[in-house]
Amino acid sequence: MIKASAVNKYFGDLHVLREITLEVPRGQVVVVLGPSGSGKSTLCRAINRLEPINSGEIAVDGVPLPAEGKALAALRADVGMVFQSFNLFAHKTIVENVMLAPVKVRKTPQAEARKTAMELLERVGIANQADKYPAQLSGGQQQRVAIARALAMRPKVMLFDEPTSALDPEMVQEVLDVMTGLAKDGMTMLVVTHEMGFARRAADRVIFMADGEIVEDTTPEEFFTAPKSERAKDFLGKIL
Ligand code: ATP
Ligand code: MG
Repeated sequence: MIKASAVNKYFGDLHVLREITLEVPRGQVVVVLGPSGSGKSTLCRAINRLEPINSGEIAVDGVPLPAEGKALAALRADVGMVFQSFNLFAHKTIVENVMLAPVKVRKTPQAEARKTAMELLERVGIANQADKYPAQLSGGQQQRVAIARALAMRPKVMLFDEPTSALDPEMVQEVLDVMTGLAKDGMTMLVVTHEMGFARRAADRVIFMADGEIVEDTTPEEFFTAPKSERAKDFLGKIL
């Protein structure tokens, strides 16, 4: 579903993605771990073409990432992304936030978009907040809206970049629960997170990055119990 081959990315002299080769089959949940600055966010952004790459190829569902125009818009619609900050539209209600992209980008009729939006809000457990504004919701609720909004485009892949890092501790689990539900429903997911419990329970696979490279690519079981590289051992020693 996601296929990256020999991807390289530089910021000036800084080589932030080094020969990244990665294949994520349909329905697989991949958790990306690694120290700060290892290139995790850049990888997500490259997959979504928010960040151009210097060499290599990235394809989503067999379609090589096009550089611009309508093809790029279509590709972005296929790849849902959820960031640390929720970035909801403050002056639109919750349900309007979820309806917006389907109406604007997919030209979905209002009534249909609203119906789908309500179903998605139901799924993330906040249908009863549909007519409120983002500022009236907790961080955890806003992040669940952000997930519903991404799902509204019916993406083939969901990318999560530290979706719970900005949340108060008591709100982390409700967001992880929504993500776990998505994983169980068969969504293809790439998740950058520091939530090791989620990685252990929900991931089919763990990718450990350091200095722009994929250093380990294995099962959660193996990664957490028998990491091979010194860098992974060091990382686990610091966080566990
Ligand atoms: P964190 O865990 O802190 O989020 P990360 O693994 O997501 O880190 P990236 O954000 O992908 O790391 O950054 C990788 C490297 O690229 C870092 O050294 C960072 O400083 C650098 N970098 C990221 N974005 C830019 C940019 N727009 N311009 C220049 N350098 C950048
Ligand atoms: Mg990051």
